[in-house]
This record gives sequence, structure tokens and C-alpha cells, in this order.
Amino acid sequence: MTYEHRMLIDGELVESESGRYFDNVNPATEEVIGRTTDGNRADMERAVAAARSAFDDTDWSRDHDARAKGLRQLQAALEAEREELRSELVAEVGCPVLSTYGPQLDVPLKEALSWPADMISEFPWKRALPDKDAFGLGTPTAREVWKEPVGVVGTVVPWNFPLEITLNKLGPVLAMGNTCVLKPAPDTPWNATRIGRLIAEHTDIPAGVVNIVTSSDHLVGEVLSTSPAVDMVAFTGSTATGRRIMAAAAETVKPAFLELGGKSVYLVLDADNLAGTVAGAAFVCMHAGQGCAMSTRLVVPNSCYDEAVEIVRAAMEKTKYGDPTDPSVLQGPLVSKRQQERVLGYIEKGKQEGARLVTGGGVPKDTPRGYFVEPTLFANVDNRMTIAQEEIFGPVLVVIGFDDDDDAVRIANESIYGLSGNIFCSDLERAKNVAGRIRTGTLGINGGLWYGADAPFGGYKQSGVGRQCGIEGLEIFTETKTVGWPA
Ligand code: NAD
Repeated sequence: MTYEHRMLIDGELVESESGRYFDNVNPATEEVIGRTTDGNRADMERAVAAARSAFDDTDWSRDHDARAKGLRQLQAALEAEREELRSELVAEVGCPVLSTYGPQLDVPLKEALSWPADMISEFPWKRALPDKDAFGLGTPTAREVWKEPVGVVGTVVPWNFPLEITLNKLGPVLAMGNTCVLKPAPDTPWNATRIGRLIAEHTDIPAGVVNIVTSSDHLVGEVLSTSPAVDMVAFTGSTATGRRIMAAAAETVKPAFLELGGKSVYLVLDADNLAGTVAGAAFVCMHAGQGCAMSTRLVVPNSCYDEAVEIVRAAMEKTKYGDPTDPSVLQGPLVSKRQQERVLGYIEKGKQEGARLVTGGGVPKDTPRGYFVEPTLFANVDNRMTIAQEEIFGPVLVVIGFDDDDDAVRIANESIYGLSGNIFCSDLERAKNVAGRIRTGTLGINGGLWYGADAPFGGYKQSGVGRQCGIEGLEIFTETKTVGWPA
């Protein structure tokens, strides 16, 4: 497998001036598979300066055709290396190869750059307001609202769906005419450095429009929140880091667009077809539960609680985990030893708080290497327990009972998060009614999938600020200017 270890700064593929490197570890095998240049603060500041100058001193922010062309060239270049990218993602992320045929690779590759590129010509860049004699002076004014790029966008992404998140940021950021500095997570740098190489070698995207800085030091990314030369910070990651970024951005009154954590419900409203609905909650094991929008709280009627627990226990025990290169595997490893320990710590906490461990709960015996955790199910869970409130980011499901729809809505909303969720009910109107009362940014009803480059995604409450994708996800990367002249 060939990989790129250099950063992209001002159109050049470069090593860090630190002269240091950091290891990339395959979480399924624990082997070091290569190394990446270890960017420092000075590299980040150079990248910010390059993005600033590309925004201020070139036509990029006004040249719609160049932007559409650049995005399409990048998409074609990525598609040409699709299979290498697939192996690379499985190796550095530990994601099951199965997931790369969907949201981890193929789906975003198809639309995350092309949809925003198509939208450049359709986006309402200018909107007329009615003429108005605003102060009653007898001089009517013609008025227009112009949408313009924000400027330099600092973009920080996590390791769980790194390419998907990167493309869903780069597409809208560039389509709207911004320049950017991208900082990937230290656990998964190569999909980003590959994008850097492809931009440099296969596109006409001008130097400085996209800069990619890799670093083992999380705080190198903090420059993107504090620098007065950055106009906006767009972050996907944990709520704890999101709070810190928002606070740091306040110093320069920078908008912070945040996609954060979740603790979503899988709400089964009635006992109709219980086997068909409840078993799907075991999907929490996909990619070892490392998905912000996954439904991690199974909420079922108390009248069929024990039956539901048995159904989902059987489904969890059937979940195939192990080698992520095996196409029949649903659950690979956690991304790192640190994440594995974190998940095991939550499992201990669940036991201490009195929840009943139904299945799993430890490190599997049949995976001698790799950061695996067994598919784990807790029953007799009170929604106020830590395992029902905090984001575990592992293959752990908790089951909570409810009495009626009001109780189900109360449980769903009794969370600092509000990202996503699923509702199942034989009565679609009842499901929609409940959906209208749950405070989350996305919801699937009876297995419906809301996902897409054209579909806004993001959170209520402490799951974030702003929306990625869709028209809302284009608008967020624009400023608004209102202009008037004598009519
Ligand atoms: P994290 O917050 O630890 O790190 C995310 C990124 O932020 C990494 O690139 C990291 O290097 C960088 N970072 C850390 N501290 C920083 C700082 N002070 N300033 C700037 N950058 C900083 O999150 P993670 O552990 O990598 O990812 C898992 C989390 O991401 C989960 O909580 C998950 O729910 C969340 N997530 C949310 C979404 C969403 O769209 N809502 C999507 C995927 C993941």
C-alpha cells in the first residue's frame, strides 16, 4: 500500500519543520503501518497564512467555474484511487470493509463533492428585496441580499468516519468560495494526506486554497480557533472538545460550526412485529459503535421489556466481529488502546451502577491482537445512569423501558445530546407525532434513512451548532451582505 506522509501547504507537499514523525497504527493488528510528518504550530501558521492569501489575493472566492471544476477533478482523482483508499481506510481506521461500501467511502465519494459542485450554479447568490422608502424621505431604494464566502475556514475532523466527514466539509466549504486549512485526527491521517497529494497533482485548485496539516499534537489544531486570520472554525468531534473550541473562538468572535456527540434512542413504540423491529438495535455494533449518530439507547414498552431484551441479546450474540478486512464482519476494533480502555471503563461503571450485564462486557478471547470489545448489552437501565447519559462510542447498547408515549418522549429528551434517533411503530402517524416531540437533528422512522449530501445533518442541544450538508450546509459557509441603491 502506498501512502502519503507529507502535508499540503501553499500548494506544496511538505515535511514538517519539526523534523519529527508519528506512527500510524492498524487497530486490528496493533502493527505500525507507517508514519506521517508531525506538523507543529509554525506549520499550522504557515498554512493559515497561505489560506488567507489564497482567499484575499486570488479570484477563487468569485470564480464559480474554477470551483466546480476543481471539485470535479478532485472527485475523479479520488475515484481513480478508490480501491487503494478502501484498503487504507480499513488499515488506519479499523472500520469493517463492509462499511466502506456505504458511508465510510463509496457513498460520500459519489456525492459529497459532486452535489455541492452542482449546487454552485443553482445557489441563490443574490436575492432581490422589494424597493423601499425606508425612512419615508421620498427616495425609494432598490435592495439586494448577496451571499458571499465566509473566508478562511479552519476544519477539524475526527477518526471514526474521517473521509466521509472530510469530504462533507471540503465540498461545501470550497463550493461556497472559501479557502481552508484541514486538520485530520492523529489516529487517521493518511486519507487526508492522500487528498492533499491528489489536489496538488491532479487538480487545478490554486495553491493555498486547501492546506492540510497533520500533527500528533491535538493543540496544533487550536490555532484554527484562536488565529485572527481564520474567519470560521468547522469542527466534528467530541462535545468536550467542541466546548473548548467554541470558547477559544470567542476571543476573535469567530463562528464555530460544531458537529458533536450523541446518545440517540432506538425507540420501539409498540409490540407489533417486535422481532422485526428490536433486533435492528444490534446495529450499534457496526464499526464497533464508533458513530456519533448511532442509536445507543434501546427504549421499549415495559409491557414487552423482557421479550425485547431476549431478541436483542440474540442479535448481539450473532454479530460477527473480528478482522475488518473480512467482508462478513460487521464489527472491527476500537480505533486505539485508549478508546478500548475508555469503553471497558464505561462497562465497569454500568455494572457498578446496578445495570444488568446481559451479554458481552469484556475483551473477546478469540481476538488475541487488536483493540476489540465484545458486543455488550445492559438491561435494567435507568435513563439517569452514566451508561445511559454519556457517549460511550463503543459496541454497547442499553435497554430502557417506558409506560406510554409521554414517558418515551421524556426519556428520549432526557439527555444533553440531540443528534439523531430511530422510531418504530405500526402506526405511522403516531410515530410522526412522537418524532415531532423529540429534540434531535435527524430521525429515521420505521427504518427510513435520512442521510445524503442534500440532507442537513447536525444536532440540537449539546450535539452541536449548525448543519452539515443540504442547503443549510452550504449557507453555513456564507456571509450575508445587504446592499441598497436609489431605485
Ligand atoms: P476529539 O474531540 O477528541 O477530536 C476530534 C478532532 O479534534 C481531532 O482531529 C483532534 O486532534 C482535534 N482536537 C482535539 N482538541 C482540539 C483543540 N483543542 N482544538 C482543535 N482541535 C482539537 O474527538 P474524537 O475522539 O476524535 O472523535 C470522536 C467524537 O466525535 C465522538 O464524540 C463523536 O460523537 C464525535 N463525532 C461527531 C460527529 C457529528 O457529526 N456530530 C461525527 C463523527 C464523530
